[in-house]
Amino acid sequence: MSQGVMSVGEDARIFPDVEACIDCGGCVVACKRTWDVPRDEQRISISTMLEGEEAAAGLNAHSAKALRQGQNPGETSVPMQCYHCENAPCVSVCPTDSLFKKENGFVEVRDDLCVGCQYCLSACPFGAPQFPDADEGAAKLFGTGGTMDKCTMCEERQDVGKGPACAEECATDALLVGTAGQIAEELDKRGSASFFNSEAMEIIFGEDAEAF
Ligand code: SF4
Ligand code: SF4
Repeated sequence: MSQGVMSVGEDARIFPDVEACIDCGGCVVACKRTWDVPRDEQRISISTMLEGEEAAAGLNAHSAKALRQGQNPGETSVPMQCYHCENAPCVSVCPTDSLFKKENGFVEVRDDLCVGCQYCLSACPFGAPQFPDADEGAAKLFGTGGTMDKCTMCEERQDVGKGPACAEECATDALLVGTAGQIAEELDKRGSASFFNSEAMEIIFGEDAEAF
């Protein structure tokens, strides 16, 4: 197992260590290969932000911690995906209940109920909802962008004790999987910041955001 995978199953979350991410795209490939994700879709994508003079000079990353301290890092890369939020805005806005939070904490989408309205895309702060099948399912009745697809947290892999493919194959252990407490402790041990602001952390972890 990757050192980033600390526990799997019920209450496991996935969260990035942006200090460790090197924007190699290994997680994207691992996900696509494992789940045969369509060419035009990515269940995980890397957002790389360039900052200040370092960006213009083409220099690479410093750290999110520096960013929070008001310095100008060259580049910060954030793996963006569904984080299976505790207070998931997508679940709140979905008008057909096709999005729901399971007892194990994972957010799931039911294809047969999704009408492709894309409200979840507007609500999600992390750009997780994908709409790869414009001509599929109930959505085609509405002439919209197709039914929604997103990260499943690799639940089938977790059911047999394996970690999510993206986290297992990350060369720098930048994707952390475990309870909120384990993730917070690991970030602390590495001297990494949590990157997202307090509002986003509350969306993702609910009351457990206090651990960060
Ligand atoms: S808000 Fe976005 S990241 Fe959170 S559960 Fe919904 S789709 Fe996933
Ligand atoms: S947890 Fe699984 S489905 Fe989600 S982004 Fe990673 S590899 Fe893809």
